Amino acid sequence: NAGSLLPVVGQELRVPLVGGGEARYANLDYGATAPALATVAERVTRVLPYYGSVHRGSGLPARVSTALYEQSRQALARFLGARADDEVIFTRNTTDALNLLAGAVPEGAGDVLFLDSEHHANLLPWRRRAHRAVAFAPTLELTLGRLRDALAAGPVALVAITGASNVTGELLPLERIVALAHGAGARVVVDAAQLAPHVRVDLEALGADYIALSGHKLYAPYGAGALVGRRDWLDAAAPHLAGGGAVREVTWEGTEWHDGPARHEGGTPNLLGAVAIAEACNTLDALPAGALEAHDHSLRELLLARLERLDAVRVARIWADSSAAIGTVAFAVEGYAPAHVGAYLSAEHGVGVRDGRFCAHQLLGRLGLPGGALRASFGVGTSADDVERLAEAVERLVREGARRDYAPGPDGWAP
Ligand code: PMP
Repeated sequence: NAGSLLPVVGQELRVPLVGGGEARYANLDYGATAPALATVAERVTRVLPYYGSVHRGSGLPARVSTALYEQSRQALARFLGARADDEVIFTRNTTDALNLLAGAVPEGAGDVLFLDSEHHANLLPWRRRAHRAVAFAPTLELTLGRLRDALAAGPVALVAITGASNVTGELLPLERIVALAHGAGARVVVDAAQLAPHVRVDLEALGADYIALSGHKLYAPYGAGALVGRRDWLDAAAPHLAGGGAVREVTWEGTEWHDGPARHEGGTPNLLGAVAIAEACNTLDALPAGALEAHDHSLRELLLARLERLDAVRVARIWADSSAAIGTVAFAVEGYAPAHVGAYLSAEHGVGVRDGRFCAHQLLGRLGLPGGALRASFGVGTSADDVERLAEAVERLVREGARRDYAPGPDGWAP
């Protein structure tokens, strides 16, 4: 796939088209889950023969696995610019990481604040705590003003904020939000599920207290994510997963839990998930500074220029004054349900996007898209050709229309 930034697995996948023929699959759904980097696939294959029980065996594979697991923690910490005393806890994904932190906010420390534009993963866990949802305003400036007012209105323990919208791709001014929160004595957790694959994060420079991410959006396969940040709340919290590995000593009288990441990582750890994340971090780290951002920017501009020419297409945006965004674009096509457009793009053109409400029901409602939208999202394996195929397909839909009866499934087609 010429013009992509890095090779990913499945880049040359061919898919059948309705009415015969086939096409190279144009994956424009990185925001949901990103394909594994080729380097990640190679690394996982190389580690697989040494696969053993982490922290639990005396054979060589178990020792190698334990070392690799801990090295993976360090690689992730380096990639994120974590402070020396930050804790790196491997979780299942971002959802798991944010739920873990929701269980660790000290009782009585104040409310948790979040915007109503958040993904459900950074909204629903906080509803279990004393919380306040802040309604986003039409501009970022006004929205920051609302956050400032909410911080002044009573004690706040934590501000939970996404780094980049999973719907529109718009970036949040994190430095300013951290300064506001810290000025009011509150901590900040950044939901970096979308941010980390697109923008280099330096946790120490940013000053945010916690960051949560998913390996599967960061070019590693499913199953592992992380929560990284200040250890005091985490070491004082009840274990996220009570069980083997999380304890120092168990008697009938009581349980002595570990401090550190082990406290929250009960059960056999996901070695391959951790190794995959570490390799993805190392590969992204080796890119020249600004390469990820430049790749995103050119693809985004290409798509926006084409879509904005079409009267029947509306591109969604949250804030009138936001100026930066990752390679994610949400749009609606007048007269067509998003699911229908998604089926058309797949069946007729071999283009994969996401349709629906993107786990952000409140946001879609407030954007005037209660029935959902389409989302094209790019990554390192995306080329200008992929984006042009999407643009041409949408242009054709607007010009010529589409049938209404695409098969919902793959019609028995499987690897
Ligand atoms: N936050 C954001 C901004 C996301 O886009 C997503 C995934 N769509 C999540 C959190 C949740 O990630 P996961 O499903 O991997 O837990």
